[in-house]
Amino acid sequence: MATVVRQYDLHTHSTYSDGVLGPAGVVDRAVAAGVTCLALSDHDETGGLHEASWRAWELGIELIRGVEISVTWRAHTLHVIGLHIDPDHAGLRAGLARIRAGRHERACRIAQGLERAGVAGSLQGARAHAANPELVSRTHFARYLVQQGHARDLNAAFRRFLGAGAVGYVTHQWAELEEALNWITVSGGLPVLAHPARYKLDHAQREALLSTFRDLGGVAVEVVSGNHTPDQAAVWARYAARFGLLASAGSDFHRPTGGRHGIGHLPELPSGCVPVWTKF
Ligand code: AMP
Ligand code: MN
Ligand code: MN
Ligand code: MN
Repeated sequence: MATVVRQYDLHTHSTYSDGVLGPAGVVDRAVAAGVTCLALSDHDETGGLHEASWRAWELGIELIRGVEISVTWRAHTLHVIGLHIDPDHAGLRAGLARIRAGRHERACRIAQGLERAGVAGSLQGARAHAANPELVSRTHFARYLVQQGHARDLNAAFRRFLGAGAVGYVTHQWAELEEALNWITVSGGLPVLAHPARYKLDHAQREALLSTFRDLGGVAVEVVSGNHTPDQAAVWARYAARFGLLASAGSDFHRPTGGRHGIGHLPELPSGCVPVWTKF
């Protein structure tokens, strides 16, 4: 019997958060790239999973129901993905609704900062770029800044206006790590620490995070990521192994151009990793 090669991409975004394709469009693009097992993992939002599941069923691929939860841990913003969550679970739904509500108030403060820097109308502008009124993210502000000619591209918009320390940057209290892991696990999901190389943590902080994450029920680390270089993947493969955590792989797809890896175009996990899909 022929071996079936599975192609995984376990981290993607649709217009329900800050991606540019609708859920069916994300699935179509994944299928075109040869993905057979796809997770849609919108920020703090599960509304796109219904459409994505239908499209995946029509096209004969597996759709993992996911979410990427925004977390504050020791004043750092972290992202934790839940794979195989039940989006109808009351505890998860209430938690995500609370985070989305916090985004409204945060967006107002971001707009005030930008106003002081001479950027007018950014709250309306960001909202106009957000297909989901419940989910206004910095990406939508960045699109407005580019559209208005304040920045050359998204990266420049983050550097100059929206990144840590910039005029439009505001601190914000997201979910606690413990509650995010709890929402994921009570709804039947597997918690995965997203793109760990992106966080500005020293070695001791990384170790503290991974041991806390594991003790709270964390299952995997995103070793291969659209945000990671091959060297970073190797580093995080070793951290995962040392803490007995499984390894995940996801492009963090938002849009057809830009990003290190396109949807589905991911390198293999480094040798020695135990893939998170052994738990599926
Ligand atoms: P938020 O959750 O509202 O803070 O927005 C975070 C999102 O901004 C991330 O999920 C990325 O999609 C996006 N982002 C962060 N940094 C950059 C960057 N330098 N260039 C483009 N997009 C970025
Ligand atoms: Mn994003
Ligand atoms: Mn993220
Ligand atoms: Mn993401």
